[in-house]
Amino acid sequence: MTTAEKIPNAYNFKTEVKQLLNILVHSLYKEQDIFLRELVSNASDALTRLHFETLTNRDIFDPDAELAIYIEAPEVEDDQPKRIIIKDTGIGMTKDELVTNLGTIAQSGAREFLAKLESDEEIDPTDVIGQFGVGFYSVFMVADEVRVFSRSYKKRAKAAVWVSDGSERFTVETAEKPNRGTEIHVTLKKDAEEFANSWKLKQIVKKYSDFVRYPIYVDGEQANEQESLWRKRPSDVTEEDYKKFYQQMTMDFEPPVAAIHFAADAPVNVRAMLFIPAKREPGILAARKEPGVMLYSHNVLIQEYCTDLLPDWLNFVDGVVDSEDLSLNVSREMVQNNRIVQHLAKTVRGRVLRQIKRLAEKEPEKYAQFWQEFGRVFKEGLATDFTAKEEIMPLLRYPSSKSDGKLVSLDTYLENMAESQEEIFYVLADDVKSAGRSPHLDQFKERDLEVLLWVDPLDAFLAPMLPEYKGKKLRNIDDAGLELPDQPETETDDDQKPELAEADFNRFVGKCVTTLGERVVEVRESKVLKNSPVRLVSPRDAQNREMDRIQRFMDKDYQAPKRILEVNRRHPLIADLAHLVTSEPDNPLVQLGIEQLYESALLQEGLHPNPADMLPRIQQLLEIAAGQAVTEPS
Ligand code: ADP
Ligand code: MG
Repeated sequence: MTTAEKIPNAYNFKTEVKQLLNILVHSLYKEQDIFLRELVSNASDALTRLHFETLTNRDIFDPDAELAIYIEAPEVEDDQPKRIIIKDTGIGMTKDELVTNLGTIAQSGAREFLAKLESDEEIDPTDVIGQFGVGFYSVFMVADEVRVFSRSYKKRAKAAVWVSDGSERFTVETAEKPNRGTEIHVTLKKDAEEFANSWKLKQIVKKYSDFVRYPIYVDGEQANEQESLWRKRPSDVTEEDYKKFYQQMTMDFEPPVAAIHFAADAPVNVRAMLFIPAKREPGILAARKEPGVMLYSHNVLIQEYCTDLLPDWLNFVDGVVDSEDLSLNVSREMVQNNRIVQHLAKTVRGRVLRQIKRLAEKEPEKYAQFWQEFGRVFKEGLATDFTAKEEIMPLLRYPSSKSDGKLVSLDTYLENMAESQEEIFYVLADDVKSAGRSPHLDQFKERDLEVLLWVDPLDAFLAPMLPEYKGKKLRNIDDAGLELPDQPETETDDDQKPELAEADFNRFVGKCVTTLGERVVEVRESKVLKNSPVRLVSPRDAQNREMDRIQRFMDKDYQAPKRILEVNRRHPLIADLAHLVTSEPDNPLVQLGIEQLYESALLQEGLHPNPADMLPRIQQLLEIAAGQAVTEPS
């Protein structure tokens, strides 16, 4: 081949691709062999795309070619650079597609990949390149020059060849290629010559591409297992197999949380191997690009992303479902309305849920991690799929006032309930710590009753949808009418605390009423507070009060809702303020104190419109306290 001075049909790589290539060409990476994984993965994608084309289109070029991948290391003269060739009989690319797909399309993946390398020095690019949709370029880690010959499945399209040495630009021109698909000729760098070796190539195929669903021939011999792992009996499949299969299917390099492998013959034939991934968000461009599972029949893929088998709130589950009862030429719409698919869906849904439940029971710590990642998906499921309540509620987990940071299920809660307890209690808060400080908990702590801490904003949103569980009502403990079982005999160590005289207390309550005015429904004595001076409770008939907290986030003109202010008569702060009302009713501390108590309670409830508004008052209170500390040193 000649290299012309003036290059015809030359195109510049997009800037971000140029940068990416610059890195790949000039650095030495330990896992260079992943270039083969990426090329094989592209070949496999191209074959799958062709396969789907043939389902609806008979008019394709070279219809009888076997769907397969061929890797060759041709013999070369000693003084010649070594080469390898990767061929597929997939969908191919036209000349224009070569230009766009391999260099001129804007590549957000390349930019993200570069940003990732920049942000994390430790990272090995070979670990992540496949996840950014730029896998093809990894070939330049090992290549001095790459030629991509391709012929599209479209009958009238001519074959073309793409050539580049991985620097500034590439060329694309028409070429001769008698058969369909893509053929990549890689001229190896001197230090990558080890790859031009059948044995080595087979080893790499085995390592990364064993379960690719098309045969991969290395110098004429099939090198991948290509078996349907899901058709084996679960007892014949090892943990390692599951991991490897999952990895090759998804290119997600975090092992799955669980593999769900089962077979059934009635009411419908099914062999399935499904996985719960570790993360909700896969790598931006992981191999599986959409939710849904792969639907097979008789070992043939009929739908790559089938979403009709599992509800939306389980669509993070990935894997294979294979049924011999499905006919091979079902189209997309037919899949949806197919009775067999409906049977399949029922079976698959049941099995997946059973497995998740088992995980929750047998491996609570693993489940807690899973919950961190997917709990919200389930909660969204509750909000959107009314039929799923029975299935989802047992899977819910919350921290509780007695669980020490651990998560408890509603069932565990029921088991631990006091005998006389009739309801499931929960308190809303922004986080576990502030929930722990809630004045509503006073009486529960005293009676050693457990309260669920609903600290996810979604919990407040879901509250109206969860009126009860297994016959027990769920009850927000900010409720004014709440009556707890067996009130303990009152007054223990409190007996010593001076009781505030009736008249003083009433005067203080009156002062609260005049100070707070319209902002509260009522001010009254609390029967339950222990260590907190005041709290805000909801009037008995308050509707959907959980939504108030959510309004705060959503509504610009949000105003704090009206609640009942309950005052703890035995609290020393209240006693001091009440005495002050009696002795010096006009002391500014009285009003400041009442305002601050009220707003602190709002804040505690997550209802304060703007906590920063409290700062000037806090400053004033500090000034008074400091002034007193100076004039009356103790
Ligand atoms: P990704 O595979 O994530 O899309 P790549 O950089 O690996 O990213 O490939 C870029 C694009 O080039 C592919 O999306 C595809 O359109 C095209 N391509 C690469 N290899 C082949 C091939 N063997 N056959 C057909 N098209 C291919
Ligand atoms: Mg790719």
